[in-house]
Amino acid sequence: MFKNIIAPVQAWLLSKGQCVGCGRSLEKGKKEKRKDKVVKITCKCGRIFIYDPKTKKYRRALFEEV
Ligand SMILES: [Zn+2]
Repeated sequence: MFKNIIAPVQAWLLSKGQCVGCGRSLEKGKKEKRKDKVVKITCKCGRIFIYDPKTKKYRRALFEEV
């Protein structure tokens, strides 16, 4: 069960609204509203995240959402 020890750290950073790559606050990223109500956030380091206002959670953007 040592498949992926990075995932819990990333999940923890995302739960605090921080980029998993550089640790910057995603609040400061470039926001872009999408038609399905979620917000696409591009961090300064180039990583792309999705914020869902319904669940108030951040997650990494899926490949097809980029
Ligand atoms: Zn970043």
